[in-house]
Parts: sequence; structure tokens; C-alpha cells
Amino acid sequence: MFKVNYEDEIRKKDKIIKELKEEIALLKEEVNKYKEEAYHDSLTHLNNRRILENAVDYDSVIIGDIDHFKKINDTYGHLKGDEVLIAISEVLNSYIRETDIVCRWGGEEFVIVLKNCSNEDAYKKAEVLKEKVSQLKEKFGFEITMSFGVSNYIFEKPVKDAIDEADKALYKSKQNGRNRVTMY
Ligand code: GH3
Ligand code: MG
Ligand code: MG
Repeated sequence: MFKVNYEDEIRKKDKIIKELKEEIALLKEEVNKYKEEAYHDSLTHLNNRRILENAVDYDSVIIGDIDHFKKINDTYGHLKGDEVLIAISEVLNSYIRETDIVCRWGGEEFVIVLKNCSNEDAYKKAEVLKEKVSQLKEKFGFEITMSFGVSNYIFEKPVKDAIDEADKALYKSKQNGRNRVTMY
């Protein structure tokens, strides 16, 4: 008579379950890695602009753009330019609060959205960032400056509009000689 060996069957199934669990854990790890990559910039490790898609309840926007960055690349090389980008990212990251978000908006442009922050405070914050960035000269041995634009981002205004306004103010900072902050 055919006799099923239940213990053997259970052992086999347990083994399959264990293997599947391990595979799921690996897949979860992989998904997290891809999520991390999708929302972060690989050079500076800052958030990328995607992070702002779900930004709500913020009061102010600061946009910053490195001055004459092309010249830095042309003079000292692209790798040195990358180092400057990383150093600036570290500066921006260390002077924001936990509730604020800083992201690499594009090549050499950064956007910061700030919570519970008046226009004046956002302006002052941008002034501090401008100062701290210019102090990178001590580390690199050449001039590094950044221009900023600030706008308020009253709720219900799409973040995109607030960034557009800050960008217009940034343009004024460039026009007026760079290394400065302009309020929209
Ligand atoms: P402005 O003061 O008007 O902003 O001048 P700029 O030279 O900074 O602006 P421009 O738009 O002419 O040049 C931006 C440069 O940024 C050109 C591009 O090669 C460089 N760039 C963008 N992304 C990266 C990057 O990831 N690494 C490096 N090294 N350079 C980058
Ligand atoms: Mg630019
Ligand atoms: Mg620039």
C-alpha cells in the first residue's frame, strides 16, 4: 500500500517557504534601492525634484544657482566641478531644519522648501547660505558663489508656481551682479 511520508512532505514545504521568504526579502531590498535611486541624485545624494511632487504645507521657496559654474568646470575640470556640487549640497543640507526639504533641481540649481517660515526668515536663511557657500573658497582655493531667489509659497499655490517666482527673483540676482539674494 502506498504510504505518504508526511514528515518528509512537511520538511520539503518548509524548505520552499523558507526559500520564498528569502526571495521576498531580497526583492523588498531591491525595491527600496530603486525607490532610493528614483528620489535621490546619485552625485550629491540630495533628493531630486521628484520629492517636491508631494510637498504640501510649505511657506517659502528658495532657489539657488551656482555662479559661473561652467567656468569652474572649464578651468579646474569636470571632476572638480562635481566636488564643488557635493560641497555645496553639504552646506545647504547642514543649514536647513529637519522639516525643510532641499533638492537638486537640475545641474547646478537647488531648491529648498521651508515650513513655518516667513518671507523675511526665508530671505535671511538664503543670506546665510550665500555666505556659507562663499566660504568654500577656503577649502577649494578659488571663488565659489551662488545666487538666490526667494518666494513665498502660500498654501493652495502649486509649488511649481512658487518655484517659477523664485526663479524670476534668481534671474534678478544674476542680472544685478550675482552672489546675492532677491525676494520675488
Ligand atoms: P550663471 O552664473 O549664469 O549661472 O552661469 P553658469 O556658468 O553657472 O551657467 P551655465 O548654465 O552656463 O552652465 C552651467 C554648467 O553646469 C554647465 C554644465 O556643464 C554644468 N553642470 C551641470 N551639471 C553638472 C554636473 O553634474 N557636474 C559638473 N561638473 N558640471 C555640471
Ligand atoms: Mg543654471
Ligand atoms: Mg549657474
